Amino acid sequence: MIKKAYITYNEVHKLCQKRSKEILDTFKPNLMIAIGGGGYVPARILRSFLKRDGAPNIPIQAIGLSLYESLSSDSADAAEEPGTKVTRTQWLDLSSLQMDSLIGKNILIVDEVDDTRTTLEYAVRELEKDVETARKQSARTEKTNFYIFVLHNKVKPKKGRLPEDMENGKTYISAMETEDVWICYPWEAQNIDQHDKDAQTHGIRAITTAGISDREVSKHSHNVKNEYNEGGGKLDEE
Ligand code: 5GP
Repeated sequence: MIKKAYITYNEVHKLCQKRSKEILDTFKPNLMIAIGGGGYVPARILRSFLKRDGAPNIPIQAIGLSLYESLSSDSADAAEEPGTKVTRTQWLDLSSLQMDSLIGKNILIVDEVDDTRTTLEYAVRELEKDVETARKQSARTEKTNFYIFVLHNKVKPKKGRLPEDMENGKTYISAMETEDVWICYPWEAQNIDQHDKDAQTHGIRAITTAGISDREVSKHSHNVKNEYNEGGGKLDEE
């Protein structure tokens, strides 16, 4: 049974705040695309920290992608089992007006957690395709840049692949690197008081400090994989 770790709204808020200045200074996003449902709350919180004086709020668009199916219907916070296929439950309105508005933008894709990376791979690949189609249709040449922000990145072997600049951390930020635990987010809770109590006893632990060099992260990821191997624990692939 996979270990569960609980995170409170307060902690989510602070995780968004923690990397906001860096996101603003380096990515300079002018549009966010939140992956539903877990990306909605972080995107909204982040928007408050990305607001510049005198500038309008950064717009948030939503897409819905589903990879996981609940194993148990009677327990709302039961850990879930990964699926293999990404299903679109909601997508951008592909009318030319909306797609046109993606061209030449710095787009920040927001999700709550990068687990196997399958969902993020799908989102980036499909959004890049759509922008390319829109660019051809409108004969516009400005470059659209994609960036990623997640609250948690589970340090584990990933199934999904991202463009190189994302993989090496240049265009990808996670607020916290964690072990491969099942993270219980507050918006999934049926009883928020109990959830907050659980967060006191089974809170989430960072395994690296966000902001350390890519080299150190990959070294750390390597160590974590080895620990899993030595302990005879879960190791998906590689
Ligand atoms: P991935 O495609 O990276 O394996 O998973 C992405 C999606 O799976 C997330 O957006 C989220 O909906 C779900 N997911 C993966 N790991 C967790 C977790 O630890 N806790 C929760 N609540 N959802 C998770």
